[in-house]
Amino acid sequence: MDRVFNFSAGPAALPLEVLQQAQAELVDWHGSGMSVMEMSHRGKEYMSIQAEAEADLRELLGVPGGYKVLFLQGGASLQFAMAPMNLLRGRASADYLNTGEWSKKAIKEARKFGAVNVVASAEDRNFSYVPAQSQWRLDTDAAYVHITQNETIGGVEIFGAPDVGGVPLVSDMSSMILSQAVDVSRYSLIYAGAQKNIGPAGLTLVIVREDLLGQAAAGTPAMLDYKIHADGDSMYNTPPTYGVYIAGLVFKRLKAKGGLAEMERVNRAKAKILYDALDASSFFDSPVAKENRSLMNIPFTLKNPELDEEFLKGAKARGMIQLKGHRSVGGMRASLYNAMPVEGVQALADYLKEFEKTRA
Ligand SMILES: *Cc1c(COP(=O)(O)O)cnc(C)c1O
Repeated sequence: MDRVFNFSAGPAALPLEVLQQAQAELVDWHGSGMSVMEMSHRGKEYMSIQAEAEADLRELLGVPGGYKVLFLQGGASLQFAMAPMNLLRGRASADYLNTGEWSKKAIKEARKFGAVNVVASAEDRNFSYVPAQSQWRLDTDAAYVHITQNETIGGVEIFGAPDVGGVPLVSDMSSMILSQAVDVSRYSLIYAGAQKNIGPAGLTLVIVREDLLGQAAAGTPAMLDYKIHADGDSMYNTPPTYGVYIAGLVFKRLKAKGGLAEMERVNRAKAKILYDALDASSFFDSPVAKENRSLMNIPFTLKNPELDEEFLKGAKARGMIQLKGHRSVGGMRASLYNAMPVEGVQALADYLKEFEKTRA
């Protein structure tokens, strides 16, 4: 079997062991005589799968009491609308930090529901850094403060939860969730599309403080109301059952591998291999400020962009795919989610050296 090193930003690589277990269980899950895809979401088999996935996720992330875990659909993009619809709670405005392409989309969507106060923006330096917290113009009356914890396109990461006083903190964790330990108690709402670091596309994870529920704007459709999903244990309608099942297998595997502290240790080591290779080179550049460099998504450029195509071709010939940068920024991008093994990152770092030696 030939597996590539897949550096895609999402949908992204999944652990081979998870895929193999899903394969082994595909047509007959645990002697049920059914595939998980064929199960009633209200049957005891599927109910046990979802309950176990939620319990494992709660343990992994250390989700405290007083929070609901929701398995939804619509991607992180739908959360750009659901967050304001549910959390504005009659207030005039919400605070947003603008650190890149995903922040911009979240801001644009939120403006349909209320006023948005952009507390700080990194647009002045092409979204290559996170504005210092001392520069944020926070509004103490804001309904919430929204941050994009990791900008998947720009490769800029916020490490830890910023201090926003008593205002609820909302974070788009799509591309860094489960990559490291986080203090969930510092956040009021965390959301993430599954296809980066959790499981297949089609599942969206939401973790929300219960006391904020039940105040959705008038006219909010049932499907967009967190309270309705929370009251129905994510079964108000048919949940994305197969996605929840695969996510559950991923959670089990992360637990078995030592949990999120161990993930963070490995992810830091992996990112260091690539950043060190970029910093040592006069042929490649990393555009992101050192203190804000993402552990998950690492954009880089060739000093001579005319060699981009040749670089990508050579990578592909060596079993490394999906290194082309996002169309909005160009260059290259390597995504190093949990499922990317150290060997894959080392192979890429070795290839950078080799390419530079032969082309420089
Ligand atoms: C991918 C991504 C999104 C959009 O996710 P969809 O599931 O495609 O809606 C939003 N925010 C961030 C940070 C992302 O990486």
